[in-house]
Amino acid sequence: MENDLSQRIQALPAEKREQLAKLLKQKQSQAANQYDVVILGGGLAGGTLAQQLKRAQPEIKILVLEKRKHPVPEAAHKVGESSVEMGSHYLRNIVGAKEHLNTVQLPKSGLRFFFPAGDNTDITQRVELGCTSVLPVPTHQIDRGRFENMLHDENSAAGITVWDEASVQSVEFGAEQHTVTVLRHEAQLTVTGRWVVDASGRGNVLKRKLGLQKPSSHNVNAVWFRFDDVLNVADWSDDPEWQAAVPSAARRLSTTHLMGRGYWVWLIPLYPNSTSVGIVADAKLHPHGDMNRFDRAVAWLEKHEPQCAEAVKAKQDRLQDFCVLRHYAHDCQQVFSADRWALTGEAGVFVDPFYSPGSDFIGLSNTIVTTLILKELKCEPIAQDVDLYNRIYLDTFHSYIGTYEDKYPLMGNAQVMTSKVVWDFSIYWGVNALIFFHNKSQDLAFWTDMRHELSRFDKLNVRMQQFFRDWDLLLQEPGGSIANVPGLTDWSPTFVNYMKIPFLHELHVELNDGLDEAALKIRVSKNIDLLEMIADEMFQRALMTTPRAESLQAPTEANHEPAMNGAHTNGNGHTNGHAQPAAQSFASSRSRYDVKAELNRIWLETQTPIKELA
Ligand SMILES: Cc1cc2nc3c(=O)[nH]c(=O)nc-3n(C[C@H](O)[C@H](O)[C@H](O)COP(=O)(O)OP(=O)(O)OC[C@H]3O[C@@H](n4cnc5c(N)ncnc54)[C@H](O)[C@@H]3O)c2cc1C
Repeated sequence: MENDLSQRIQALPAEKREQLAKLLKQKQSQAANQYDVVILGGGLAGGTLAQQLKRAQPEIKILVLEKRKHPVPEAAHKVGESSVEMGSHYLRNIVGAKEHLNTVQLPKSGLRFFFPAGDNTDITQRVELGCTSVLPVPTHQIDRGRFENMLHDENSAAGITVWDEASVQSVEFGAEQHTVTVLRHEAQLTVTGRWVVDASGRGNVLKRKLGLQKPSSHNVNAVWFRFDDVLNVADWSDDPEWQAAVPSAARRLSTTHLMGRGYWVWLIPLYPNSTSVGIVADAKLHPHGDMNRFDRAVAWLEKHEPQCAEAVKAKQDRLQDFCVLRHYAHDCQQVFSADRWALTGEAGVFVDPFYSPGSDFIGLSNTIVTTLILKELKCEPIAQDVDLYNRIYLDTFHSYIGTYEDKYPLMGNAQVMTSKVVWDFSIYWGVNALIFFHNKSQDLAFWTDMRHELSRFDKLNVRMQQFFRDWDLLLQEPGGSIANVPGLTDWSPTFVNYMKIPFLHELHVELNDGLDEAALKIRVSKNIDLLEMIADEMFQRALMTTPRAESLQAPTEANHEPAMNGAHTNGNGHTNGHAQPAAQSFASSRSRYDVKAELNRIWLETQTPIKELA
């Protein structure tokens, strides 16, 4: 047969043979440039998505297009250096970067917050909220350049095609294949992909093409810079008592937040000895023009964070970069489509860096994108799933926005803000991260079954975020000034170890409980019951200690019986319909009495008299 075919080709006139050869070559190069998935952008979102897809389905054909040349610089590359539990879990266990993170990136000892005291010239006088060691569930401080170089190499080794110095020019959607035009080494190339995923960050390739932009009303700006030297907040005082409270290494390995009204300043250590410093500030309270050059940022620090300014000035000859970003939060109309495109990472939405959720969102959207792509490649319908995923992902983003929007003024208020941090950690560990750790964030049946419980959770959180804002407003002077407000700025200096709050510690370690689905559902419900008790206790505390507190709205529903007493549980303390002891956790089986006692650890003593606790 083959012989017969080659004889017939030989018999063709030379001109016809040439035409046939050309056609064959074209077909071959088309097949070579045809992929299942073309990913636009090889940063954190694009690089990890490629790895996640390949690990889930080794035969999938993926092309990553990245305009930068590799290797990219270490340390002074991108922001997104501090990771929290969800993001770290994603990178370690789903992307498979555990070894890299354990060996050539830094472990992290949680988030740490220093609240203002006087003119902030003495760190020992500030209320410190933090922990004393790395946390049981690992998190990391990530040099993004180092990480992206590793991803680039690992992806190539795994058989993923990675083109760097490849700038995406345009995307045309087709019925079977989408066409992507790329500029690479001055040549214009076209490739096709059944799926196109935009991971171009603020390059926003598809968002612009499809007109999906949606501005966010959360208006906060940031500036940041890096030094190739250690800058450790633990070196700012040699007071023996202050030094004894927290080991120096734990202070260094945290993401430090120096807090003030309308701003926070981050200090993030990078492997082996660099430091990232950033100022993040509400545009209404701290104009961007006051900090948008290095000299201005130093002058701003001298005014608001003088100890940090001194440390920065001492290292300015080691400065590696200086970057600015105005109004960083952005929304999007739609991020997933049944027409086989998706937006992931910052190409879709970005909320706020305060609790370092950037890589959490990458883990969430990449996991949804992976689920959709694998399903569609098996020729299963995805239109309905796409609608639900858009709702879940964008609703999650909007609920996160509520955590940050209008909350920057609270950042100088130690009393309200320590409560808010404990609340925000509790909802994160108790519900959002718990679901992600159990691989259920993309499970639509789980979301459907849990919709009433998750709606109870959402409503509670919306009311709590409003409560924190209202509580802070009651503690401010007319005109909004934070200075000289009795009970607001005169906290006794203290270290509050949040890992010593038993329910918080347990919510954290229980992330790795590995529950089955039924047990997870019960655990989520019980954690929401616990959250209702925490909310109620915080509200009671505000009522008892704050002038004019009668105007505060109760965060739990009127006449709402705490769920532990009946509404969601049967007489044995098990949730109705799901009576499985495996779901009982220490944190969620607490009584109201326990919660009150445990929360007492975060109420700060002030020099001004407060009403007695009932
Ligand atoms: C001030 C600030 C602080 C932050 N801090 C944290 C933090 O501490 N922790 C955290 O988890 N997150 C943080 N984030 C968020 C974090 O930076 C992002 O989540 C993360 O960088 C997004 O990764 P990405 O891959 O989506 O985008 P990027 O990392 O920007 O990657 C996009 C890639 O696409 C490439 N590209 C763009 N256009 C094209 C094109 N046309 N063709 C080819 N390639 C293209 C770019 O070169 C780039 O490499 C912070 C964000 C801000 C603004």
